[in-house]
Amino acid sequence: MAQLSEDCFAFGGALCPVDKALSLIEEKVQPVVENERVALSQACGRILAQDLVAPFDLPPHANSAVDGYALAFADLSAESETVLPVTGLAAAGHPLARPFVPGEAIRIFTGAAMPEGADTVMMQEDCVVERGFVRLKPGLRKGANRREAGEDVTRGTIALCAGRRLLPADLGLAAALGCRELEVRRALRVALLSNGDELFEPGTPLPAGAIYDSNRHLLKGLLRGLGAAVSDLGILPDREAALREALLSAAGEHDLIVASGGMSSGEEDHMKRAVESCGSLHFWRLAIKPGRPVAMGQVGSVPFLGLPGNPVAVAVTFIVLARPFLFRLAGALAPSPLVFRVRAAFSYRKKKGRREYLRGRLRGEGKGLLADRYPVEGAGILSSIVRSDGLLILDEATTAIDPGEEVDFLPFSEVLW
Ligand code: AMP
Ligand code: MG
Repeated sequence: MAQLSEDCFAFGGALCPVDKALSLIEEKVQPVVENERVALSQACGRILAQDLVAPFDLPPHANSAVDGYALAFADLSAESETVLPVTGLAAAGHPLARPFVPGEAIRIFTGAAMPEGADTVMMQEDCVVERGFVRLKPGLRKGANRREAGEDVTRGTIALCAGRRLLPADLGLAAALGCRELEVRRALRVALLSNGDELFEPGTPLPAGAIYDSNRHLLKGLLRGLGAAVSDLGILPDREAALREALLSAAGEHDLIVASGGMSSGEEDHMKRAVESCGSLHFWRLAIKPGRPVAMGQVGSVPFLGLPGNPVAVAVTFIVLARPFLFRLAGALAPSPLVFRVRAAFSYRKKKGRREYLRGRLRGEGKGLLADRYPVEGAGILSSIVRSDGLLILDEATTAIDPGEEVDFLPFSEVLW
């Protein structure tokens, strides 16, 4: 269990810049320490616990990149055609069973081990074969169509580094290096709950004034996508005693508690009082829009992350804060999603001093990508996330964007899965 020291998320400043929040997370959150070995088939999305050092060269042997004829470059004439006898065969998985002799050509297929002494392969499309001989055009480069042993990964070097979140290509590479299992960090156990008397479970009738709980379903998918084992605590009412009971029981067996709703200051404050009664809670007035405030706290020594109620603010604060928090807690390297520069097709005015995230849609045009703002803006418009491509990020110093100016674009595909 990751242990937090007492009241570690205290933040004294008035408005907390995103970068400050991220460095506090890096500083205060201790990663889980337990590891486990899992089969490759179970390792997708998990965090690699130890460097994977290549136990041998990849590929293990020099081999042919094409179907053709393997030969010694020294046997080729530079100016005119060369004719060589075809005296053996090497196919993938079936190397030439005898030593190569200079002066011969070996019929070879893609992936077959290069016969020792043959350094070059001529593609079959560039050869003419006649009665056991092959006629080769001049002009071939020494070493052509030959893949060297170790050209992919060299023996003894790090193929995958500790802290990496394993994705399908990583598993392919691990398999190529002979791994059946990998040492990964234990999956985070995350308790997830929604809070609000207006919330109902999809599939049940909806009373007047009520809405269905969408945040929990959004968050469950995001948390699972990051490899967490999620316990769904359901919808909790706006009642301090019920919240307190749920929090205390969740703290016993989880690494993190994630809640959404009930975090806005000035409202009924049930969640705030509930968390404070069994730990501590701080409203980080993040200098972002949408999304502030986000509450960071602890129930006993288990971290508590209180996200806003509005679904768009949930998505944005998850991307900006919760995701780095989870990476850190899981023992992963800090995430560094790709951000692209695109050209704005809109104008926008904003306050200095806070970072704003606009939902954006991209369209290709001439030399590059143009970004439109999603036309409907509110923090409750969940369909705006579904129908946008990502977030346009306007940093703290920016006050105005006009058409044609460059702006940072973070694709949802980088962060929302
Ligand atoms: P709150 O943070 O509780 O003041 O909620 C802010 C807004 O988000 C209100 O309109 C809530 O109805 C809405 N909201 C809170 N929780 C959820 C949820 N789990 N799913 C959908 N909307 C929610
Ligand atoms: Mg509420």
